[in-house]
Amino acid sequence: MGKLEGRVVIVTGAARGQGEQEARLFVAEGARVVVADVLDGQGEALAKELGALYVHLDVREEAEWQAAVAAAEKAYGRVDGLVNNAGILRFNTLLDTHLDEFMQVVEVNQVGCFLGIKAVAARMADGGTIVNTASYTGVTGMAAVGAYAASKHAILGLTRVAALELAARNIRVNAMCPGAIDTAMSNPAHLDPTGAADTEEAARALDRFYRKLVPLGRIGRPEEVARLALFLTGDDSSYITGQPFVIDGGWLAGVNVV
Ligand code: NAD
Repeated sequence: MGKLEGRVVIVTGAARGQGEQEARLFVAEGARVVVADVLDGQGEALAKELGALYVHLDVREEAEWQAAVAAAEKAYGRVDGLVNNAGILRFNTLLDTHLDEFMQVVEVNQVGCFLGIKAVAARMADGGTIVNTASYTGVTGMAAVGAYAASKHAILGLTRVAALELAARNIRVNAMCPGAIDTAMSNPAHLDPTGAADTEEAARALDRFYRKLVPLGRIGRPEEVARLALFLTGDDSSYITGQPFVIDGGWLAGVNVV
């Protein structure tokens, strides 16, 4: 028996990166997964490979959320879980951040998460789970990512309030706070379709950077975040709700001065 046997889970931003690994692991653990993204080609290919359902879902659009939940119910009869994983990052100091850019980040990361909780919890079976993807920058500051950090702090607020409001239906709501994870977001080499940017030298430079920054001495792997998402979606976390879970190789523990 898998840890998610028979459960129906929607994962947003699942065409690549952490969402892709969450979809892969959840299917391996017996879940019926709805792969949701705006990257239709990649998302459809992944869903086909996994025997999952793909839906086009721009998390900023309330009507698309309704359609995604309806598609999940039509295919699988119900929804038991949601991983709000879709997100974007922009680098700029606050003084150089245009309002448009700030709002873009808030709309995807924060509004998308709110709309997901609203659309899915309304239709979810009692005993369901919601896992929101916040960030290391949801619990501490980081220069040059002000819009992103603000949106990720907000996700923790949404998580706590949703946990309180949904507890009577035994719907548990938790958040993951990943540090640096080796996906396109932290390592643009993954975006090079030729693979030419993914050189050994580039990997060594990345390694040197994270060896200094992160106590465990390396960038995290999306598969490691997927295992946390599995824990928070499955019964192993049955008495846990409303909590942020930092997964960062020790980065938040403090600075090393020796
Ligand atoms: P990624 O860029 O590979 O994946 C993000 C996914 O979200 C992509 O598939 C993208 O198409 C999708 N997406 C973007 N805008 C969308 C929208 N409007 N509607 C639906 N889907 C949309 O990066 P990732 O690392 O896999 O990111 C996953 C989550 O983890 C994000 O919420 C991100 O903020 C968070 N996170 C990442 C890191 C990291 O270091 N990679 C660290 C902390 C938190």
